[in-house]
Amino acid sequence: VLILGGWLLDIEKLTLGENIGEGEFGAVYEGVYMGQRVAVKTIKCDVTAQAFLQETTVMTKLQHKNLVRLLGVILHKGLHIVTELMTKGNLVNFLRTRGRSVVNSVQLLRFSLDVCEGMDYLESKKLVHRDLAARNVLISDDNVAKVSDFGLTKVDSKVSDKAKLPVKWTAPEALKKEKFSTKSDVWSYGILLWEIFSYGRQPYPKMSLQEVKDKVEQGYRMEAPEDCPPSVYSLMRVCWEQEPRKRPGFHKLREKLDREMEKLSPGSGS
Ligand code: ATP
Repeated sequence: VLILGGWLLDIEKLTLGENIGEGEFGAVYEGVYMGQRVAVKTIKCDVTAQAFLQETTVMTKLQHKNLVRLLGVILHKGLHIVTELMTKGNLVNFLRTRGRSVVNSVQLLRFSLDVCEGMDYLESKKLVHRDLAARNVLISDDNVAKVSDFGLTKVDSKVSDKAKLPVKWTAPEALKKEKFSTKSDVWSYGILLWEIFSYGRQPYPKMSLQEVKDKVEQGYRMEAPEDCPPSVYSLMRVCWEQEPRKRPGFHKLREKLDREMEKLSPGSGS
């Protein structure tokens, strides 16, 4: 508790609202804390809560416009993690429910850049996400995409338990030898780009997990999503280089995406 410094919040000041999602370890609720709309993730199990608490200290050191911001934690019947509320939910549902008629390619590129900037920041802090996927990207009220579930990854059973790895998003060397790095995050980012430009489709459609493992190891890669700009597809392909050191870092990816944005929507770059 000492390590939490000023991050302990007062339960008396929290009003819990509707259930807005289900996490692996407990439900997520909407709420209001001292006048601000928040999301509250509840972790019931005491052992898990302990581990989460340690990882939360990582989150306290991270502040970036493209990372979901931690407001603090509440210790009460387990652990409550309080973050900024992302009213438009996760990116997969956002894209699936709106589709091509509502979301244009400039917006898709904007989301791609948002996530890339968040990851560039994580890379600069030498942190590896390990579970980057569109389901872990949340959309704010003003349509900004932010990476969530970062820093919690070490306590995530998915990492120590190979059986639970998100196979379709995980780089081959991470699947086989548990070699996680920024470059394995870059692989996942390539899959995330594919999810974005396919408007939230499940990657490797119709393929089983075992099939994905085997085929990807042999060099198989997904085709470009329908109507995906070739330049964006070639970014996916470099993210999926078998050899981790041949993949670009997030900084390089960001420069490339900035150039794409400038082509598509001159003058709107960040
Ligand atoms: P995973 O199994 O991918 O690690 P998880 O168990 O960590 O998931 P979350 O992804 O954190 O659970 O939360 C589940 C759902 O709750 C999200 O998909 C999202 O719809 C909703 N949610 C989580 N955090 C927020 C937030 N800050 N604002 C709005 N909705 C949120």
